[in-house]
Amino acid sequence: MSMSGKLMVGNWKMNGSLAANASLLSDILSGMGRVSCRVAVCLPAPYLAQAQSLLAGSAVELGAQDVSAHESGAYTGEVSCAMLRDFAVRYAIVGHSERRQYHGETDATVAHKTQRALAGGITPIVCVGESLAEREAGQTEAVVKRQLATVIHTNGHCISEIVVAYEPVWAIGTGLTATPEQVQSVHAVLRAQLLAATAHAERVSILYGGSMNAANAASLLDQPDVDGGLIGGASLKAADFLSILKAASR
Ligand code: PEP
Repeated sequence: MSMSGKLMVGNWKMNGSLAANASLLSDILSGMGRVSCRVAVCLPAPYLAQAQSLLAGSAVELGAQDVSAHESGAYTGEVSCAMLRDFAVRYAIVGHSERRQYHGETDATVAHKTQRALAGGITPIVCVGESLAEREAGQTEAVVKRQLATVIHTNGHCISEIVVAYEPVWAIGTGLTATPEQVQSVHAVLRAQLLAATAHAERVSILYGGSMNAANAASLLDQPDVDGGLIGGASLKAADFLSILKAASR
């Protein structure tokens, strides 16, 4: 397991407004008293400047929800690593299942975005996970291994600098959570795959994501290869997010 404390990341998805963000971030910051885990929030790109200023001097780090595979130039609509770095962004989610599903991102796209992020000083949070049909067909291990293999192959020894998020697609935004045993078994597979690729696999935080909430966080985070969480819906409510952060700080 990763040695440096749990890493808990909120994914706000396409939610928020200047007013709502100010109130949510202020409620999170004022409730962080007994939180000792690492914390980051991934906002829509237009709000990164606002969040940078509201989070300045706090322990909460900033993340983006995607990053371009290109460095700069004629890529309308894309946001580069350098642009993210201008706003003190530390993390970028890469290959979220919603981007794979609705925006045609392939394993190769995800591998290239990961490579660009690493070269550009952003820590990629690389998402992998099986669909319900794939789980029911007994393909879970094969699917997550294939998704991670492309990223490992493209990124070589730099792979120890990534964060991995295991997010079963059927558990995202559905209220269905994988059991702690299901999660640990996939995380162990991913850890073994990283161990075969790098001597520093223990440095890689492997997060679980998929309907994590205040009630189930502790049992998931207690698994030996669960190094943190990626939290969607529950990260939009300060009280819920803070309860999860406290479960990660025991
Ligand atoms: C996510 O989008 O990464 C996620 C885990 O969402 P939720 O917590 O809402 O299932």
